[in-house]
Amino acid sequence: MEPIIKIENVRKIYKVGNEKILALDGVDLTINKGEFCCLLGTSGSGKSTLLNVMAGIEKLTSGEIIIRNRCINKMTETQLSIFRQKYLGFIFQAYNLVPSLTAFENIELPLIFKEVPKKERIKRVKELVKAVGLEKRYKHKPSEMSGGQQQRVGIARAFATLPEIIFADEPTGNLDSKTTMEVMELIRTMAKEYNQTIVMVTHDTRIAEFADKVVHIHDGKITEITTKN
Ligand code: ADP
Ligand code: MG
Repeated sequence: MEPIIKIENVRKIYKVGNEKILALDGVDLTINKGEFCCLLGTSGSGKSTLLNVMAGIEKLTSGEIIIRNRCINKMTETQLSIFRQKYLGFIFQAYNLVPSLTAFENIELPLIFKEVPKKERIKRVKELVKAVGLEKRYKHKPSEMSGGQQQRVGIARAFATLPEIIFADEPTGNLDSKTTMEVMELIRTMAKEYNQTIVMVTHDTRIAEFADKVVHIHDGKITEITTKN
């Protein structure tokens, strides 16, 4: 197995007034290419912090994050944003779609940023719309869709440029349990098709069942790692 993300002795301390909060307390973790990895823990355990430092969204206090053999905590903001655009995708709990754009246009956005030619872009978005089952909703704006449909748009957008790694923080947090299972199945199927790596935060053990590797987090530390074969 080929490691794609390596985390070495990562610590993250938040300072709030005079108080110091140790959100990550010496985390070591390796995630392999094509793996579906869940960060599982109760609220406040440090899951989101770990995901955010891993994705370069937040600075760490000490330690190293190595993605595709590049040490991302040593990158400048410019290097990091180029790296993110090239290799990383994100799915958010609150969908984060552009309200004035249709489903089709939201999915198209990362392809425009990547300067994919129009003809190719339209072909790709049509495939994605079909893959996430939104053929009848692609002209709708986010406010004209259900939560599950909006998250399907969010998923299609994250997968549009075929990033090697997709980060997701509680992506089904606003969905009912039936829609949650459908959305999870969709994410897993799409990721397996292109051997993409998924790192997903959840507090829900039923969601963790979709993962190949479950990383249990408690008080900013990894307490257990279980893998499925
Ligand atoms: P989880 O995602 O597992 O619920 P978080 O990673 O969000 O947990 O938070 C871990 C700890 O760090 C918590 O004690 C939380 O209050 C604290 N924390 C998170 N973000 C910040 C922040 N921006 N400033 C200060 N403390 C924070
Ligand atoms: Mg969180």
